[in-house]
Amino acid sequence: MHAPNQVLLRDDILVGADLSAWIARGGGEGLAKALHEPARVIAEIEQADLRGMGGAGFATHRKWAPVAASPDGDKYVVCNGNEDEPGTFKDRFLLEHTPHQVIEGALIAAVATRANHVIIYVNPHQPRALTVTREAVGQWREHAHFTAIEELLGGPLSLKVVPSSGLYIGGEETAVIATVEGGFPFPRRKPPFPAENGVHGAPTIVNNTETLAHVPGILRHGASWYRSLGLGNASGTKLYSLSGDVLRPGLYELAMGTSLEELVFVHGAGMLLGKEFKAVFTGGPSNTLLTKHDLDVPLDFDSVRQRRSRLGTGAMIVVSQGTSIVRKVAEYVNFFAQGSCGQCPPCKGGTFQLARVLNRIDTGRGVQSDLESLMNLCRLLPGSGRCGLIDGAVTVVESSLHHFIDEYEALLMA
Ligand code: SF4
Repeated sequence: MHAPNQVLLRDDILVGADLSAWIARGGGEGLAKALHEPARVIAEIEQADLRGMGGAGFATHRKWAPVAASPDGDKYVVCNGNEDEPGTFKDRFLLEHTPHQVIEGALIAAVATRANHVIIYVNPHQPRALTVTREAVGQWREHAHFTAIEELLGGPLSLKVVPSSGLYIGGEETAVIATVEGGFPFPRRKPPFPAENGVHGAPTIVNNTETLAHVPGILRHGASWYRSLGLGNASGTKLYSLSGDVLRPGLYELAMGTSLEELVFVHGAGMLLGKEFKAVFTGGPSNTLLTKHDLDVPLDFDSVRQRRSRLGTGAMIVVSQGTSIVRKVAEYVNFFAQGSCGQCPPCKGGTFQLARVLNRIDTGRGVQSDLESLMNLCRLLPGSGRCGLIDGAVTVVESSLHHFIDEYEALLMA
């Protein structure tokens, strides 16, 4: 067992909105270093190999560099705290308990890219996170480092909290931008990427809350320190939202590269009622399922991708032998069907059609041709939407059919 590696969740830094307590525990040192040598920041983030913790694990410095390189003028850093996916509860915890870590990360991004707008985008269905973050933002505005950033920029810095729409799709990067501009969270196709055409057409970084929370530590202690926290080739730590059929569900911060087996059987204390492990919905419910054959996989972006899945947000929804995969998949696809924004007819119609067939099979009213319908939809729908929602819904259906076709067949009417 590897000892939990607590960088983000250390008890002594969970100080809520109290900025003086954060500063007394070493907070602000990362930002001070960034202010001292702004041109070094992106190289440090690159050397630390900090990845995006909200989905695809994209290299953070690659989002920051083009914004830094664009001419001075309006530029935005948006911290994405929309978090509305089943099984994911890490960003909410960070904003409620250690908001200064997140805000300092966003301010360091502003220093590195000379951005004059910093927006903390928070889900209004998480009222405590919204209240604490608003209070924390007010305290930063009074701090000397804030004045120092304005001096560096040669003009005012806007730092504010913007409530999201509270809709699942509102967390998609381009939907975040649409909401910040005051519109409905309709995603759009990329390119253009936010770095070239973001909020009101200005160069924009949209980073996940956890991603930004890692930044102050990297600046304070250095990239080598951060890399040394990970196992094998992986770098840093990761928050895992562990839920489902485990004895000890919860939020865990572990070394990046900790095995799935260690997460479930050591930190999660194993399966409920001693049942056998069946599978895990990894990174939220829109990725390929990992099964008992994958328990040895190191939980880092590259290793999980080699198993044809994604680490995603780090949500791990564990399923035991006593739990129906078909029912879980039906629940998640229903969620996606409700969450589709409706701009792309294949997505709205396709997710509802998938959900309808899954519900029929789950309730014992399915026939053989329903399985063929599911397979046909999985073939036809991918790539037919402006964003990844439809592809995520298809992936989880396809993966469950691949691994658990016997469960589907057992539910069909004779
Ligand atoms: Fe909306 Fe779905 Fe199209 Fe995404 S794929 S833009 S959720 S309709």
